[in-house]
Amino acid sequence: MVVAPSGAGKSTLVNALLEGDPGIILSVSYTTRPPRPKELDGREYHFVSAESFLDRRAQGEFLESAEVHGNYYGTSRLWIQEQMRNGRDVLLEIDWQGAQQVHRQFGNAVGIFILPPSLPALEERLKKRGQDEENVIVRRLLAAGSEIAHAPEAEYVIINEDFDTALAELRQVVAATRLRFASQYAKHTKLFVELGIHLPQAD
Ligand code: 5GP
Repeated sequence: MVVAPSGAGKSTLVNALLEGDPGIILSVSYTTRPPRPKELDGREYHFVSAESFLDRRAQGEFLESAEVHGNYYGTSRLWIQEQMRNGRDVLLEIDWQGAQQVHRQFGNAVGIFILPPSLPALEERLKKRGQDEENVIVRRLLAAGSEIAHAPEAEYVIINEDFDTALAELRQVVAATRLRFASQYAKHTKLFVELGIHLPQAD
């Protein structure tokens, strides 16, 4: 799971990671937010009405869901289960509320928090995003502050000062995550069983 305030450069980093690593697959969330120019239904998001979203949520279709900036967002449970069955590494780009829900369900889920290098840098990046009015930028900064307050809940923190360094660090986290006992056990169960290695019993 990658979590970050807007303006930390999360999407650019994630896109670069995905381009260079076909073993990782990004979950396409459902949202009630209207598509931005250049966004495609089924690519950036599954864009749905609030009615359809709430219906899906009531049916238990979401692994996690949250309201962010007045819109609903959710991750498809079925899709994630399918990818995990096929041994794929799934990446979720979600907010802290969603990350908390995923952590509660999957003890092994890894949270990576992307931070901006400084407050002025964050402000600068938010301003560059568009010709937003000053009050919109202030609102975004406040929202960024409340997202950042949840950084301690992540397993890893990457400070996005230099893009190439941050990308290399993200790749290192992915590599380390793939080597965790649970991941290795899932991928090489036959070998582990052959060697008499068993999963520790849950309490
Ligand atoms: P945006 O609308 O700018 O694409 O995303 C707004 C926020 O919603 C970002 O913090 C993003 O990470 C979060 N988000 C996107 N998809 C999901 C999701 O499926 N679940 C949750 N909880 N948050 C999401």
